[in-house]
Amino acid sequence: MPELPEVETVRRTLEPVVVGQTIERCEIYYERVLPHARSSEFCGSVANRTITGVGRRGKYLIFALDRELDLVVHLRMTGQLIYQPTRELPLPKHVSARFWFLDNGELRFVDQRKFGTIYLVARDDYSEIHGLYTLGPEPLSSEFIWKVLAAGVQSMRAIKAVLLDQTKIAGLGNIYADEVLHRAGIHPLKPGCLLTESEIKILHKSIVSVLNEAIACHGTTIRDYRTGSGDTGNFQNQLQVYRQTGKPCGKCGVLIERIKAGGRSTHFCPRCQRWDPECTD
Ligand SMILES: [Zn+2]
Repeated sequence: MPELPEVETVRRTLEPVVVGQTIERCEIYYERVLPHARSSEFCGSVANRTITGVGRRGKYLIFALDRELDLVVHLRMTGQLIYQPTRELPLPKHVSARFWFLDNGELRFVDQRKFGTIYLVARDDYSEIHGLYTLGPEPLSSEFIWKVLAAGVQSMRAIKAVLLDQTKIAGLGNIYADEVLHRAGIHPLKPGCLLTESEIKILHKSIVSVLNEAIACHGTTIRDYRTGSGDTGNFQNQLQVYRQTGKPCGKCGVLIERIKAGGRSTHFCPRCQRWDPECTD
């Protein structure tokens, strides 16, 4: 599933090619991609509007349209938002929506599993998009200081589950939660409220550094994720624990293990990320 670095990469690859483009018309091939609108009214509302900016919050892409509308896209499991400079290219399977631009290019929403969603709302009014409205702090913003993280992790739940909770911190999913905890040397099952101040500071640094490195590598492609140009990412070659079960830890050589945390597959190094629940220090 695309996480913050993947969605940010899509944003960065689309911004230079779609800002300034006017949507001539759009077509919806899968009605449920629009949870809150009929395709006829949606397409009528976006037609003849110009894209003035491309933003991101957590895993949501936000296209600012002229005359005060925001087009919000959530890629969910397998969504791909790809710019095609020409219309002649063959239409791939699993296309949920297409936006044709006046200059002849188009933006395609391709989504094999069909969980992806598109919303059209008044500028900055996200009250109807629950996941966006309740989103926690943005980890790469200047407001995200270690004390913000410290407030967010005060929970009896396993730290892995807390990191996946989008209301506590925006944008982390299964890949980066595992990678961040490995870099910080914290056991994924340790309750958030038991983290020491120094652990929270290391965790904070690890979140920022792992996300920035993954963005620099254009994200992680395990299967479906593609950039806005249709290319794969490269961070899958730098993963330390995610899907590395049975391989030696890059820091200590002990074999990476897989457990369940919060119902999700979780990968960690039993030596670098030690925690004894019986021991209280
Ligand atoms: Zn290790």
